[in-house]
Amino acid sequence: MTYNIALVKGDGIGPEIVDSAVRVLETIGARYGHSFKFKEWLAGGCAIDATGTPLPEETVEGCLTSDSVLLGAVGGPKWDGLPGNLRPEKALLGLRSAMGLYTNLRPAKLYLALKEECPLRSDIVAQGFDLMMVRELTGGIYFGERGRREGKYGPEAYDTETYSVLEIERIARAAFETARKRRRNVISIDKANVLETSRLWRETVHRVAEDYPDVTLSDMLVDNAAMQLVRRPSQFDVVLTSNMFGDILSDEASQITGSIGLLPSASLGATKRGLYEPIHGSAPDIAGMDRANPIATILSAAMMLRYAFDLSEEADAIESAVDAALNEGLRTADIVGASGIRPLGCREMTDAIITRL
Ligand code: NAD
Repeated sequence: MTYNIALVKGDGIGPEIVDSAVRVLETIGARYGHSFKFKEWLAGGCAIDATGTPLPEETVEGCLTSDSVLLGAVGGPKWDGLPGNLRPEKALLGLRSAMGLYTNLRPAKLYLALKEECPLRSDIVAQGFDLMMVRELTGGIYFGERGRREGKYGPEAYDTETYSVLEIERIARAAFETARKRRRNVISIDKANVLETSRLWRETVHRVAEDYPDVTLSDMLVDNAAMQLVRRPSQFDVVLTSNMFGDILSDEASQITGSIGLLPSASLGATKRGLYEPIHGSAPDIAGMDRANPIATILSAAMMLRYAFDLSEEADAIESAVDAALNEGLRTADIVGASGIRPLGCREMTDAIITRL
């Protein structure tokens, strides 16, 4: 089978880490008899330099006609002074919206080999954790009506949160489907003791749950969830959240893993086509120095195989190769800590993962 993958390498370390993931995918293709065809498209700062706009129309077209998109990262100090609509980050929002991506999947897993990097207490670390945030991406307060006006106490500002049943239903289904690929447990996050949108959220999620009797569902208030993530993260499997709650909790979840250089993500819509990218930025401070950790991008490619192409065995093979490299003590500079281990470069770490596939 042939899969057409759009590559959006972006800026900074983007090209290095995407090249690493491509090498891994090519090896997997040869091993399992798939043909991955890659086509590159510009977005972010490099697109501004080449075309004057962060997201050229042909990039959108190229992504929409691909089977899936692998993205590095965009942005950097060179473009920081540009006005908002010309900032490289606009490319990400534009691409997500053009592709209709309303589900964001962000796994946060503790690698026991890297437990020294985890900021939590050792008894909590000993239990390990492996959770998946399923965050609604295109609705809620970030997209609601907003403005400034004259109020009771003078000038004031407001942002409104709106969620429709349709938006809640589709993200809830994404969470239950994801849970079926994992440990079949969903914890839905809301603030139903205060917010009307949360009460509709809870009602709707419970109704959708009736279609998934094999998945356990419970509710958790967002303030409690923020505490539980640092108190007992092992209790979470799939965490279902609205846009803003997920924005905050997914950053908390990534921090407790100890390294952002390891964490992949997927943004999905109604079709199988998705956008797969590491959660970190373009790391301009180490760009072009062969010091980037390629693992987050390689694991993003694994998520692409699992969610876009239903190639679970191949995705497992990549994840196991990463586990093996870390368990054998191989490290890039960002995760070397105080171990005294000689850090591998981006290329060397990629080679090490490929030889363990
Ligand atoms: P960053 O994630 O790029 O870097 C933060 C720190 O982590 C840096 O010290 C960096 O060297 C390190 N780091 C990040 N990824 C690493 C990796 N794979 N291997 C080793 N070290 C890594 O965040 P920042 O410095 O706040 O942002 C830099 C630029 O990236 C900005 O222009 C920002 O807007 C952009 N950004 C883009 C995205 C995206 O494209 N999705 C996300 C976040 C930030």
